[in-house]
Amino acid sequence: MKVFKFGGASVKDAEAVENVYQIIKSERGKLVVVISAMGKSTDLLETLIKAYYNNSDKKQAIFEAFKEYHLEIIEGLFGEKGMPQEVYQLFMELEHKLQTRPSYDYNFEYDQIICFGELISTHIVSDYLNASGYTNTWMDVRTCLKTDDTFRDAKVDWEWTEELIKTEFTFADTNLYITQGFIGSTTTNLTTTLGREGSDFTAAIIGSSLLVKSVSIWKDVPGILSADPKKMDGTVMINELSYKEAVEMTHSGAKVIHPKTMQPLHNQGIPLLVKSFVEPQNPGTVIHKIDHKIELPPIFILKENQVLITLSAKDFSIISINDIDRVVNFLIDKLIKVTLMQQSAIDLNIVADASDENLEEIFDELSEHYNIRYNTGLTLVTIRHYTEEVLDWMVKEKDIYLEQHSRLTARMLVKE
Ligand code: ASP
Ligand code: MG
Repeated sequence: MKVFKFGGASVKDAEAVENVYQIIKSERGKLVVVISAMGKSTDLLETLIKAYYNNSDKKQAIFEAFKEYHLEIIEGLFGEKGMPQEVYQLFMELEHKLQTRPSYDYNFEYDQIICFGELISTHIVSDYLNASGYTNTWMDVRTCLKTDDTFRDAKVDWEWTEELIKTEFTFADTNLYITQGFIGSTTTNLTTTLGREGSDFTAAIIGSSLLVKSVSIWKDVPGILSADPKKMDGTVMINELSYKEAVEMTHSGAKVIHPKTMQPLHNQGIPLLVKSFVEPQNPGTVIHKIDHKIELPPIFILKENQVLITLSAKDFSIISINDIDRVVNFLIDKLIKVTLMQQSAIDLNIVADASDENLEEIFDELSEHYNIRYNTGLTLVTIRHYTEEVLDWMVKEKDIYLEQHSRLTARMLVKE
């Protein structure tokens, strides 16, 4: 038994879905396939949700664009046979939802709408496979992936979920399940989501509950590379990684897998394969338990959109643990993610994710106690397994704002 996960890029058009079908078909044993929303349709749904919530007149046009995008894929796959009934139903349901008045809970409304991406994509793929002669069972993952009600960032109820997954995915009369990534539901069956890009995590939840042989994540890259090839030259492919190394990389900002994916797989000792859907015959990268020593090249991870905030006490007092505690908790309350910290006697340097945060308001509050200096538009470069040559090169090439080294990891904050 295995789990395969296909992300948006792997089902972005009819040709891509056909390729997914070929990959699934060549797998002989029992299989659960977890699929994300098609292409960039989750981004599109996010704009739809904003328009719905603000009752903007763009609402209908965005809905039409979302529908059109899927209709083109459906036409490419089904031709004359037309749209599968369930997909038709889902479009109706979504359109109807858009006519109703939203509640006051934005995050709740977000989850009730964003899930249509995954529900529609899985129906299209499942029906296409059925029509092509590969009978399979479409599964609503919300019947077994149970969470709390933190909408948009729901926490999994592990015990209950594991039990339900085992009772639902029985393989009694099927060899293949097609189900959704990213979504779950509360005790009262309200839809929740696990956070953007959460489908990898879904695959790990299902895989670890069913104790599968492996979980494969199919991507448009050959596997895990030593850096993002779009941002750096000379990247090399990494054949194997430990779970720990993979967690470190993804936590530092490597986008190749969702950081939460590793823990459940590590705990059950289930290998995670990162493979190319363009060259499915290639082995890709395997993340598993490694007892022997492996040599890894320097691995570069870039986290963009960082802000460096330097605080010093207004009364010239030395930075204490209480200051750190106060500032960090304040930022957590404001949902700002701290990525690095460094302190001297007088200065507390905090590097944080500043994607779309309201910095002005935050600085206003902090400036009651502290003098503040800051720089935006910075990139945090993490180099795992750094060498002296690499560090020298970085220092020569880049304007470095802050540096931190540990045994295996160097972190440098540089101008973008
Ligand atoms: N479709 C969702 C997203 O784009 C979940 C995922 O792709 O993993 O965030
Ligand atoms: Mg996606």
